[in-house]
Amino acid sequence: MKIELASSYGFCYGVKRAIEIAEKHQNSFTYGPLIHNKDEIKRLKDGFNIGLVEKIGDIKNDNAVVIRTHGIPKNELALLKKQENKIIDATCPYVTTPQNIVAKMSKEGYSVVIFGDKEHPEIKGVVSYAEDQNNAFIVLKQEELEGLPLKNKVALVSQTTKKPEDFLKIVNALILTHKEVRVFNTICNATFENQDAAAELAKRADVMIVIGGRHSSNSKMLQSISQQQCEESYLIENESELNPEWFNNKELCGISAGASTPDWIIQNVVNKIQELNN
Ligand code: SF4
Repeated sequence: MKIELASSYGFCYGVKRAIEIAEKHQNSFTYGPLIHNKDEIKRLKDGFNIGLVEKIGDIKNDNAVVIRTHGIPKNELALLKKQENKIIDATCPYVTTPQNIVAKMSKEGYSVVIFGDKEHPEIKGVVSYAEDQNNAFIVLKQEELEGLPLKNKVALVSQTTKKPEDFLKIVNALILTHKEVRVFNTICNATFENQDAAAELAKRADVMIVIGGRHSSNSKMLQSISQQQCEESYLIENESELNPEWFNNKELCGISAGASTPDWIIQNVVNKIQELNN
């Protein structure tokens, strides 16, 4: 049986970068978990003494603090600076971009519309960069635009992980009702690249193994997409969950992994499948 990895899988650029940055700063703390994978958090703790603080109030003045890929609100950053914490900024550059756009357009007097989830840490960070907080609005659906006190000049950005089709609905609605709309496509393609690659491989595979957290919506989505093409698609967290029977009389085993699955877990799974195959 041949084993083939999807052409795109696992960590995105921003997460890989954040982990590399953290590894270079031993004995620091991350503000919130760096990644939604407990094995990787443990590896960073055991190998690099990188701790975790959940609340800003728990950060002590002498702590070196790693900022996560999602970024943090401007006032929290200011507080850390005031406390003279050493700041190690691992905010993904694809998230810094909408933060900067919001700051600039708000300063230029545009109403700012952010397409995203109010409660998502990335969006809490992005909106905080608007100079005029009364003129910055977060919407998830086009209906939510109705009744907003927007000026004639509107600037629009998106949460990085949103679907382009949904972003376009907001663009269309704004263009029909406002004189000037500046649209900034701040969507990051990382999630879709993994999904497209899993679908392509699943079409050819006899069995698909998706590696990722059982509670990770991103990993569950990969399994569901794979299953549409390949009925025998299984979601596992690590190699201990592999069932040898899945590989009986199969010619091609495809492998994909969620955005929070580290390479070393993927490699352990590949090694185990090879072992079972011999
Ligand atoms: S913006 Fe894209 S590359 Fe950056 S952390 Fe998010 S998914 Fe990864």
